[in-house]
Amino acid sequence: MLERIMAEDKKLHDAILWKATGDGLVQCFACAHRCRIPEWGFGKCRVRHNVGGKLKALSYNHVIAMNVDPIEKKPLFHFLPGTTSFSIATPGCNLTCNFCQNWRISQSPGEGAGLEGQEVSPSEIVERALESGCRSISCTYTEPTVFIELAMDTAKLARKRGLKNCFVSNGFMTPEAVEQISPYLDAINVDLKCFSDETYKDICGGRLQPVLDCLKSLSALGVWMEVTTLVVPGMNDSPGELKQIAEFISAELGTGVPWHVSRFHGDYNMSTRLPTSVETLELACSVGREAGLKYIYCGNVHGILDERTLCPGCRSVMVDRRGFNVSGVNILNGTCPDCGELIEGVWE
Ligand code: SF4
Repeated sequence: MLERIMAEDKKLHDAILWKATGDGLVQCFACAHRCRIPEWGFGKCRVRHNVGGKLKALSYNHVIAMNVDPIEKKPLFHFLPGTTSFSIATPGCNLTCNFCQNWRISQSPGEGAGLEGQEVSPSEIVERALESGCRSISCTYTEPTVFIELAMDTAKLARKRGLKNCFVSNGFMTPEAVEQISPYLDAINVDLKCFSDETYKDICGGRLQPVLDCLKSLSALGVWMEVTTLVVPGMNDSPGELKQIAEFISAELGTGVPWHVSRFHGDYNMSTRLPTSVETLELACSVGREAGLKYIYCGNVHGILDERTLCPGCRSVMVDRRGFNVSGVNILNGTCPDCGELIEGVWE
């Protein structure tokens, strides 16, 4: 294995966001783990590798998913509604959430396994996105931070060709990573999985504070942001914790930031847990409204709860949406045509 990696060294892509620590180790600072990696060792994400004292981005040439998705699937509800986004991922993630719905690709490569996926260049990704009529490229399904080199190279080309760039992220980024990617990023959906450091540690293999810091930085930089919380029964569904999440968004990010509260279905290491009840999602919505949030959406319950965007002023329908299907957008220069209220988002 080692010999093969050494032989392939020249083909491995150089990582960014790392430094040699002078003791034979390298430190990666793409994400808040800030892994110190010994020679021939791997970071926690299993796709960043110290090869002879240099950090390599193993997944750069391993695109594992490429799909044309509605932008609503990210979910981004206030960003070019009704358009499609060319969605890519490579294997690997920096977190290990027990409830992960994409664990087959996010938790790969497994111990001793090779990297799946195909070599697709950034220019090829951009061409395919344009050919498919997409308005944006999304780095999604797994964590973009661990494939930030491919994401950056693609985003730079995409920008030149008139495409927008989106991330769907767990937000466990460093300020250094935020600084690198934010000039090319048009929109991001960040998971705020809970408001408990213990849960982040025990269930997700992360920490709460770096996610909060990342959210605040992105907000200050003006990147369009929406926040998602997968509501998992018994983990983060108490009224008190939902209130903490909603109040953080409202106070620190702004009342115009959309909050997606999504229904959990048993998966990965939580496959036997019951799905979130509709009542709990309705509770989350009312907690969000009490915190002053203007736009709250329930995900994974298509057709049961209202998914439309309503004007916070006069309650007229601004975006008529059912599931991922948008049947009408009634917004004029970012405002409600009926009462003139500002409707936060990127509409054109
Ligand atoms: S991206 Fe995060 S998990 Fe992966 S090597 Fe870097 S610091 Fe470690």
